[in-house]
Amino acid sequence: MRPATDTGRDGVDMYDVAILGGGVVGCAIARELSRYHLRCVLLERFAEVGFGTTKTNSGIIHAGQQTMPGTLKGLLEVRGNAMFDRLQRELGFGFRRCGELVVASNDEELASLAKMKADGEAKGVPGLEMWDAARLRREEPNLSHHLTGALFAPSAGVINPYEFAFALAECALRNGVEVRLEHEVAAIAPRPGGGFVITSTGPGVPAGAPPVEARFVVNAAGVHADQVAALVGADDFSIRPRRGEEYMLDRRLEGIVTRLIFPVPTPASKGILIIPTYDGTIMVGPTAHDQDDRFDVPTTVEGSEEVFAAVRRLCPSLDPRATIAEFAGLRAVSSSGDFIIGPSRVPGFFNVAGIQSPGLTASPAIAVHVTELLGRAGLPLVARDDFEPSVAPPARFAQRTHEERQALVAAQPLFGRLVCRCELVTEAEVHEAVDHGARTLDGVKFRTRAGMGRCQGGFCTSRVMRILADRLGVPFHEVTKRGAGSWMVLPMEPAGEGPEARKEGAPCSDA
Ligand SMILES: Cc1cc2nc3c(=O)[nH]c(=O)nc-3n(C[C@H](O)[C@H](O)[C@H](O)COP(=O)(O)OP(=O)(O)OC[C@H]3O[C@@H](n4cnc5c(N)ncnc54)[C@H](O)[C@@H]3O)c2cc1C
Repeated sequence: MRPATDTGRDGVDMYDVAILGGGVVGCAIARELSRYHLRCVLLERFAEVGFGTTKTNSGIIHAGQQTMPGTLKGLLEVRGNAMFDRLQRELGFGFRRCGELVVASNDEELASLAKMKADGEAKGVPGLEMWDAARLRREEPNLSHHLTGALFAPSAGVINPYEFAFALAECALRNGVEVRLEHEVAAIAPRPGGGFVITSTGPGVPAGAPPVEARFVVNAAGVHADQVAALVGADDFSIRPRRGEEYMLDRRLEGIVTRLIFPVPTPASKGILIIPTYDGTIMVGPTAHDQDDRFDVPTTVEGSEEVFAAVRRLCPSLDPRATIAEFAGLRAVSSSGDFIIGPSRVPGFFNVAGIQSPGLTASPAIAVHVTELLGRAGLPLVARDDFEPSVAPPARFAQRTHEERQALVAAQPLFGRLVCRCELVTEAEVHEAVDHGARTLDGVKFRTRAGMGRCQGGFCTSRVMRILADRLGVPFHEVTKRGAGSWMVLPMEPAGEGPEARKEGAPCSDA
């Protein structure tokens, strides 16, 4: 039964909902809507989902005690946090509740932690505890001995954010949502009789393809949400991108801290923290600086100095020379400072905008909230009895015991062929990533960790490219880092298909 769908121009079926933007928020909404008898489509500008802010964050599932009480983001953060155990069981992404410490360095900061604890408890954050300096030193001996105490929040965790987004999208796809990649929404017009006509451009749009028609539109376009809303006159807000730089440290530092270490937020501490990532590396950051550009997201010398000066006050042995990778992402800070979620002044057009931190944490609760709002606006929510909540988790060869690895190799010999030495990624896992939707080097990297280790792809890049070329049926030089324009090598002469073109070409200057 599909009660909501009607027929659009020229007898074309209309979608019930078009979701614009395939970050973690758009993907979570797509999966949530796929529980119902609805026809939904997700349009994403990039070559894969999760390639916007979703892949460039701290990977923290916040407990919720730090966010301002009384805000929508504070409410959805606590609700979202509580949903992750079940989501992890269903979708198999990397997630661990390691807990978080907000550490104080003087009496004034200790007093502010007591207030934070009371605020957190009022919001329903479970298990908050004050620790004195002795307990802190016992539990985290590598932290500075100048710290005077901490607020412990056991429900905080670390997650692989891109794995989460990929799994949400795969689950939505499996339950009937259409996911159209390399579709940049360029125009949205109200449709006579109700609904919208959405025109996209980009390499994924077939020549002559008709525009998408949908009764409801959900704008989840991240830092571009105000520009997308402006296409239909629903932009009574603006977005200011705020850059955050992060620094990934060598795996030999694993265990230097075992919990997330936040300073008490003050102008001096800048909220820069230490993150023991799900995969066992240590990450430090992020900075917070406003910028105008919504695409170019550089890391800077000043950013690195700012981050290490801040984290060395918390953990003096952290050394910038241990950095193996760095990246930056853009927070979508709205003019209201809070999440902007709900119907806009254009009937049927919903904004899910200003989803800055803790947007990753809140994303599953945002999806439920948006679905309820759509229901109230007239979208019939008739639950399917064949909704399939799960997708297969990745094999994670590196995390297996010796016996498990032997069994995997016996069952599939490609588990016996290493592609990435630093992170112990096998050829079978690269194939598995392609089976689950990877189309680019970054898509493989974020699904398998090939290229994320100490040598940063020096060993595995050409191996992964060869597998991708074979699996996608394209010449070697057409394999990209993250979609059209991000070529890795120039074509060989003569260009063409077949074994000649599969050889590595000359490095491309803009790779
Ligand atoms: C440095 C940093 C650290 C952070 N750390 C955390 C954290 O630890 N925990 C936490 O909870 N949150 C964190 N956040 C916030 C979190 O990352 C974001 O809230 C979340 O990723 C937002 O997801 P999104 O789907 O709204 O945006 P995005 O992931 O940016 O997705 C929006 C998508 O819309 C697409 N799009 C845009 N315009 C168009 C168009 N015209 N047509 C089609 N598609 C379009 C984009 O390509 C993009 O893929 C952090 C953010 C930053 C920057």
